[in-house]
Amino acid sequence: MVEEGWDYTNVDEWKKEFPQSCAGSKQSPINIILNNTKLAYTTGLEWKNYDFTPAEMRLTNNGHTIQLQAKWYYYDAYVTSGPLGLNDYIFEQLHFHWGQKDNEGSEHTINGKRCELEIHMVHWKRDYGSIENAVNYSDGLVVIASFYTVLLNRKSQVLENILDAISSVQNVNGTTKIEPFPLSDFKVADNYDDFISYSGSLTTPKCNEVVTWIILLTPFSISKKQIAKFRSIKLNHGSKYNYRSTQPLNDRKIRVYLQFDPKWKNFDTPFLKYKGNKYVFQQLHFHWGRNDQVGSEHTVNKKRYSLEMHMVHWNKNYGSLNEAINHKDGLIVVASFYQVSNVKSVAVQDILDAAEKVEEEGSSWQIENFLLSDFEVVNDKTSWISYNGSLTTPQCLEVVTWLLSLDPYDVTENQIRKIRSLKLSHNDDHDNRPTQPLNGRKITLYTVLFF
Ligand SMILES: [Zn+2]
Ligand SMILES: [Zn+2]
Repeated sequence: MVEEGWDYTNVDEWKKEFPQSCAGSKQSPINIILNNTKLAYTTGLEWKNYDFTPAEMRLTNNGHTIQLQAKWYYYDAYVTSGPLGLNDYIFEQLHFHWGQKDNEGSEHTINGKRCELEIHMVHWKRDYGSIENAVNYSDGLVVIASFYTVLLNRKSQVLENILDAISSVQNVNGTTKIEPFPLSDFKVADNYDDFISYSGSLTTPKCNEVVTWIILLTPFSISKKQIAKFRSIKLNHGSKYNYRSTQPLNDRKIRVYLQFDPKWKNFDTPFLKYKGNKYVFQQLHFHWGRNDQVGSEHTVNKKRYSLEMHMVHWNKNYGSLNEAINHKDGLIVVASFYQVSNVKSVAVQDILDAAEKVEEEGSSWQIENFLLSDFEVVNDKTSWISYNGSLTTPQCLEVVTWLLSLDPYDVTENQIRKIRSLKLSHNDDHDNRPTQPLNGRKITLYTVLFF
């Protein structure tokens, strides 16, 4: 895939030399502005066979970077699921981008800031048979990128495997076999933090616009000694760095993926991951009103929905819900809306069936064999917004990160009528906010699913 006649000393000339693509409108890298992103949920990427030690590994200085290739005889390592859906993307090679000073080197920037090193793991879509063929299709490649920072001056163990062989690839065209190690040592697969994704291009000529970028937001550590070794590597025409300048986003969307634990199940403690923290599921409840036009607490473009569900989670770092509510990153409430249609919500029906057994306010009933993941919102990958707010109770503690799913789900007229008929107290101060009298009834049904 290496095109001749370019290097990093003429990076702004690429648009002229390779006008068919390097001058395109979906180029990479980009500056990632985190406020400017859309939230999406995913079950996370699945990394297959990354923990198998390859039969052979080869490190090469191709004049633009040092590149690591791995060969397995009986397997291929591939990534699937999450934003990739059912498609498999097979590992081809990984390589690095660096610079000469701290705060430079990475190709992508986050809110304008660069890390010292960026690793690219290049994958091609299995359906296309080979990487050479895959680069002709807009969904041909997935590049998984992560960052290394010298901030903590902490050594990366996995990079030692590569840096031990650095003398053999110090010069252009240097190549060597290295002792094989599993790619899972890069720990990218264990990283359950948020990642972002967008559609872009190769960051080297011919800059093909065929890449789904997946970028882990939390950097790994590298020591000053280690980054110095990268900086000593000789590249074509004496280039001292190998990162391309950031390109305009144009009309592309950046999505932030929040990784849910895919293994939510009954009697386990379900949780979601958000900004590197675990939030333990505590309870879910509903808000509704007198008729179809009222009920939801939040409005979307001034529209109120018939029903709003809140799933309350607390930050595991604080040990308990009671302690978490004292901290501004203490709670996450996932909110979703329901509108009346002729499509029944299976998950809401499970709750309603159980609610019939909750005769008095304050009593509870354990629901058997109910999966939280039956709720539509848990599987939603569409429009999300996030804001920091308060609980909608009188204490108004400003400890809640709200995650709102914008597109409503369906309940039937019958289901909503059943909810409205639930016998609940009208004098519960805890659930009435006097400042918003138009909301109709704001009494909540607390249905404890997990103990
Ligand atoms: Zn790269
Ligand atoms: Zn609520």
